Amino acid sequence: MGMEYRIAVLPGDGIGPEVIEQALLVLEQVGRKFGHVFRFTTLLAGGCAIDATGNPLPEETLDECRRSDAVLLGAVGGPKWDNLPGDIRPEAGLLALRGGLGLFANLRPAVLNRELRDACPLRPDIVGESMDIMVVRELTGGIYFGQRGRRTGKMGEEAFDTECYSEGEIERIARVAFEVARKRRKKVTSVDKANVLESSRLWREVVTKVANDYPDVTLEHMYVDNAAMQLVRNPRQFDVIVTSNMFGDILSDEASMITGSIGMLPSASLGEGSFGLYEPIHGSAPDIAGKDKANPLATILSAAMMLRYTMHLEEEAMAVENAVNRVLEEGYRTADIMSTGKKNVGTREMGRLVAERI
Ligand code: NAD
Repeated sequence: MGMEYRIAVLPGDGIGPEVIEQALLVLEQVGRKFGHVFRFTTLLAGGCAIDATGNPLPEETLDECRRSDAVLLGAVGGPKWDNLPGDIRPEAGLLALRGGLGLFANLRPAVLNRELRDACPLRPDIVGESMDIMVVRELTGGIYFGQRGRRTGKMGEEAFDTECYSEGEIERIARVAFEVARKRRKKVTSVDKANVLESSRLWREVVTKVANDYPDVTLEHMYVDNAAMQLVRNPRQFDVIVTSNMFGDILSDEASMITGSIGMLPSASLGEGSFGLYEPIHGSAPDIAGKDKANPLATILSAAMMLRYTMHLEEEAMAVENAVNRVLEEGYRTADIMSTGKKNVGTREMGRLVAERI
């Protein structure tokens, strides 16, 4: 039976509006094909919001996001706003949005598409035919949110930041990781630095305890330095990686670079229940904005994650992912993933081709 969903759309700056337009086109086609209604409300966030209201996250935007089932975001920022003070920069709006919506779990798939194997910087014998890792990063705790400050010490001025995690914070992110693994290859690698850090020792204890509720999922623990190494030595050993805010920040970038194509990678940030914020991992790419050159596939695949994780519409999510794969198999490429013998298309044409194949 057809359902109705309310989606807050934040196109943002640079290529944001261009890639969002294509994702909406694809969602509308999903709606037509499967009989759902998606109600989009377009809102200001980032640099464009600073220009219009002086605030990177106007209250109206946050309120409407809270009333929605999900949020779809393009990208924010650009050179125009780079010299503003920290708290009114576009990125501050993004942090306020994640915090304001209680999004504590960041899901970043690093998928190497068979068609784009050549973009992978690792040798073919290391990465194989394809790769599919999901990094689950804790997003609202740890050192990025802990106590920090400056003081005078014996060797001059000192600065400190604090890594602090509670049982509750660790348990809820671990549960997300195990639930996600259940829908995949049923393996969780928990990454920490328990040989040195007390916060990591608690992390390990709690994750181990949560694992008892998921006997069908295999759990292993790995130190973060080893994980960084294993990702380039043998990435195929990983299914779901769960880790803290800072380790996840670093490892998810490393994992995504293995795929070699920033324009292809989606992400989801989840809170309690099925609410989520979905966005491509790339930025606003000011160098190619307004030129119909941006790859919209990361944003289209973010919309697919929204269908899967917020709306629990697995068939519809697969329809989008399969349409993207077909377009790539047929040889269509935006400039960033172009190679000899393939067909170069712009942002709009790429969006149209995907929508047509739903
Ligand atoms: P970027 O991701 O915007 O661009 C890096 C490089 O990748 C550029 O050469 C760009 O042209 C290319 N690229 C990125 N997305 C692409 C796409 N979809 N298709 C084709 N090519 C693509 O990173 P940056 O240059 O470091 O940052 C630019 C601005 O974006 C900055 O203001 C930064 O603060 C902001 N930013 C925002 C977010 C976000 O909104 N979540 C994330 C990262 C950076």
